[in-house]
Amino acid sequence: MQGTVLYGTGDIRFEDVPEPKITKPTDAIIRLEATCVCGSDLWSYRGIGPVSQPTPMGHEYCGIVEEVGNAVKTVKPGQFVIGSFFASDNTCPHCNFGYQSSCQEREFVGGAQAPLLRVPLADGTLVPTPEVPAKEMIPNLLATSDVLGTGWFAADAAKVKPGMTVVVVGDGAVGLLAVLSARQMGTERIIAMSRHKKRQKLALEFGATEIVTERGDEGVARVKDLTKGVGADAVLECVGTQESMMQAIRSTRPGGYVSYVGVPHDIELKGEDLFFAHVHLHGGPAPVRRFLPKLIDLVWGERIHPGKVFDLSLPLDQVAEGYRAMDERRAIKAILQP
Ligand SMILES: [Zn+2]
Repeated sequence: MQGTVLYGTGDIRFEDVPEPKITKPTDAIIRLEATCVCGSDLWSYRGIGPVSQPTPMGHEYCGIVEEVGNAVKTVKPGQFVIGSFFASDNTCPHCNFGYQSSCQEREFVGGAQAPLLRVPLADGTLVPTPEVPAKEMIPNLLATSDVLGTGWFAADAAKVKPGMTVVVVGDGAVGLLAVLSARQMGTERIIAMSRHKKRQKLALEFGATEIVTERGDEGVARVKDLTKGVGADAVLECVGTQESMMQAIRSTRPGGYVSYVGVPHDIELKGEDLFFAHVHLHGGPAPVRRFLPKLIDLVWGERIHPGKVFDLSLPLDQVAEGYRAMDERRAIKAILQP
């Protein structure tokens, strides 16, 4: 088969790769209905994360189970399933506390920008839909695999609830879906930080009530203005840079919550800044598996349409254009059809 491999900065290739096989009795092989390019794939594409060897890319997936290992009990061939970027047993202590992305047995799932994918720990990792979905629903289901799950964790980790003023830093797909998540959790006031017209429009559609275009110190000042000098109750950091993280901490009121779900790149926090900020901090790689049943349910009932973040649809063999379009910010997120 052919799959997506990153060779170095800007060098993404669609080429012959070995077909995945069952290597452990707890594995499943799934045939992907759709996959996509993640904002986090762009870090290595841009040369910010090192690429020491040709690396199979992609970690967002949904599709039909083709084959299972002989220890797999609940997942069955023919089912439509969704999983997350970390495989987890869903039984260890960390999983039981809802932190499946810190599972004691966790394995990163890579190589999903391909027609077939091996998923380890299939019983713990994969969640089936009630039936095989209609084609139109697939982008919405695919979004639960990572971007929506991560946006949801941003809102969950910042304890979002009705009555709060919530700020979302970052207008990528995760930030936009953090807006949707905060709205679902019942908050009435959501300030989205964005300077791109198309993304602002989607943020408003997902439930944002105000848009702030300023960044850094000016962004912080604007949020303070909008909150009578107090600061926001919760700030959801969905980027992962020093500027965005400090902007999030400084926009939050004393006693408020900061969540951070963007993969951090060279962020350094000073003890003094944290000490005097008086904020709760919680984040990390989203335990998407915890939220998958609920998110699938919301999509299945057509109560949310997170697939709207996919504004570019390409056949899988044009994956390189998906990376380019996202890198140049021509597209919010590219969906790929094998
Ligand atoms: Zn576990």
